Amino acid sequence: MDNIVPQFIHGEIRTGGSPERLENLYPADGSKLGEVSIASEEDVEDAVRSSKDAFETWSAMTGTERGRILRKAAEILRKRNDELAEVEVEDTGKPIFEASAVDIISGADALEFFGGLAASISGEHIQLGKSFAYVKREPLGVTAGIGAWNYPMQIACWKAAPALAAGNTMIFKPAEETPRNAVNLAEIFVEAGMPSGVFNVVQGGPQVGKQLVGHKDIAKVSLTGEVGTGQKVMEGASKTLKELSLELGGKNPMIIFNDADLEDAVQGAMMGNFYTQGEICSNGTRVYVHKRVMDDFCDQLIQEVQNLKIGDPKDPATRIGALISKEQKEKVLNYLQIGLEQGGELLFGGGEPDFGSGSPLANGYFVEPAAFYTESDNDRIAREEIFGPLMTILPFEEETDVIRRANDTPYGLAAGIFTRDIRRAHRVIGKLDAGVCWINNYNITPVEIPFGGVKMSGTGRENGRAAIDSWSRLKTVYVEMEGVGRPFD
Ligand code: NAD
Repeated sequence: MDNIVPQFIHGEIRTGGSPERLENLYPADGSKLGEVSIASEEDVEDAVRSSKDAFETWSAMTGTERGRILRKAAEILRKRNDELAEVEVEDTGKPIFEASAVDIISGADALEFFGGLAASISGEHIQLGKSFAYVKREPLGVTAGIGAWNYPMQIACWKAAPALAAGNTMIFKPAEETPRNAVNLAEIFVEAGMPSGVFNVVQGGPQVGKQLVGHKDIAKVSLTGEVGTGQKVMEGASKTLKELSLELGGKNPMIIFNDADLEDAVQGAMMGNFYTQGEICSNGTRVYVHKRVMDDFCDQLIQEVQNLKIGDPKDPATRIGALISKEQKEKVLNYLQIGLEQGGELLFGGGEPDFGSGSPLANGYFVEPAAFYTESDNDRIAREEIFGPLMTILPFEEETDVIRRANDTPYGLAAGIFTRDIRRAHRVIGKLDAGVCWINNYNITPVEIPFGGVKMSGTGRENGRAAIDSWSRLKTVYVEMEGVGRPFD
């Protein structure tokens, strides 16, 4: 690929598109990696036509055949892990330490898992006396995936793998900030033997997304993005009443009881706040700590955070990379200011690291990991999704009180608790309004388990067997074995 990031339509790259271009920037130093071509309306129409054609072939193949291609693609992804991880680093600014261990591999896991399931997708037979019915599980048709920028390859694979395994075709639109690996994925699919048009990529911003959402020939849209975008997509989809999966934001609670293994809890809180510079939807950004262990927890946390190297994302020793954009950096710095103004106590961090004016990183979008202590759940830092390395620590004493406070949010994506009391663990989890919960760990999202939110964090599930249900529909067929008779007699 040269430095114009193209569309990928019907097996071919395309750079024409609309006359405008987007910039592809490296968040670690703000340098321009290249430009992104934006799909014109005609490009999107071509992609839909191509996907419709390809659907005829792809849906007629057996699950075994489709699965073999998906598993072959997983193999290629694993072989090209280092190179693809570097692209992920350049597009997102996250550390290579993470991208090479998680981002591409979790995408490959999804292709393998759903590639394995493809052959076992089946319906049901229901005997009704001498007559019977069967229920077929059918693909939906042409579908669309719209991605966020924090896990570009993983998001593309989490959507494409179950959709394609079930026999659908997909048009994928990556986030405008992170356009490159979706095209690499499309090329890998073709190399693995996938027919042209089964997976097309269109580039661009909200306008291109809107065209997909409103298109009458697209049966389902799966979005990963902000709540506000989810609302617009739901509204846009209402005109054609298409199926939707919405993977949206969160302000997730993590509850640390006084009997918790504190070392685990500190590591869990760090993982749930500072991985990918805090740009993770399921992060546990409201950390409720029992009053009796608050001091120990904070002391250990302060100690551990000092070991996190912030800086050059391509340095394998780096643990905190750059935020996605200048706007995101300013947003996070603004929340730090708000936290201070509302009376929060800043325990550590809270600024831009000083790399020295001669360093290219001085132009990057870095913010040091930070934690606030506050006793008010109403502080904006305790209520709003920040999507950066900013943890809010809140004290609690009573189990019932902390459950109420944990649920007092419009969001419901994830929740975690740390305790050694097995009964309490399950009792509390049973009362939390969240789609994904962890006991004594945080942010573990293997492809085998369903992932998704409740309340304003979205609808639908990715991963696990549940994802196959969401990318297929049922057709019920009644078979009469005895004749109609005379129903009006
Ligand atoms: P965003 O909502 O700004 O953009 C997401 C995608 O939607 C982009 O591809 C964008 O071009 C597209 N888009 C924007 N407006 C659109 C419209 N009107 N119609 C159709 N498409 C439109 O989100 P972002 O800033 O890229 O990502 C950060 C957000 O994503 C955070 O809120 C985060 O919590 C959320 N997120 C959720 C999950 C999850 O699985 N629940 C995972 C990752 C990120």
